[in-house]
Amino acid sequence: MFRIINIGTLSQNKFWGEKARMREDISATCTLLDVGECRLLVDPSPRRELLERLLFNRAGLRPDAIDAVYVTHWHGDHLFGLRLFEHATWLMAEAGIAEWRECAPEYRHLSDRFQPAEQALPEGIELFAAPGHTLTLAALKTETPWGSLIITGDGVMNREYFAAEEGYHNSIDFELAAATIRSIKAAADLVIPGHDNVLLNAR
Ligand SMILES: [Zn+2]
Repeated sequence: MFRIINIGTLSQNKFWGEKARMREDISATCTLLDVGECRLLVDPSPRRELLERLLFNRAGLRPDAIDAVYVTHWHGDHLFGLRLFEHATWLMAEAGIAEWRECAPEYRHLSDRFQPAEQALPEGIELFAAPGHTLTLAALKTETPWGSLIITGDGVMNREYFAAEEGYHNSIDFELAAATIRSIKAAADLVIPGHDNVLLNAR
């Protein structure tokens, strides 16, 4: 079972004609994956009070019902609400943890608490490499009754960036970002972007 807890927003979207920062209250899309023995929350956003309310309103759950939190990449908007889940296991791809420690050593008090997701994800949920936005961004892939689902983090920003096969303006490598979107298009029937509602992908 998957459920969107929060639909993320972008500070600016060039496909809407926006050339500067238009929104301050941005957040990332947050998804709950419930695989029976584990309730996994992907990209805990927005900030804690709102995320706590959304988790209850959208899924009837309190933060202590979450077993593990997975973060696709280390950018702050994807872990705004992390501290709500002090009791849970914090997971990120091993290379992502290393990149975070190198790029933002001031956050070692958080990054040091993360465990490599490679060995710790519940059965049926796997990592899907999605570099370009950052070099180590790792999406999650799982099977649903409606086909393959990929939760992309910022591997896909939103509907328009997905259609254009384009990375957001802060991407590290635009060619890699485009190749990642093409690989997601080839592998997924359902796509949950980093900053949009779920998209249907006709393959
Ligand atoms: Zn990001």
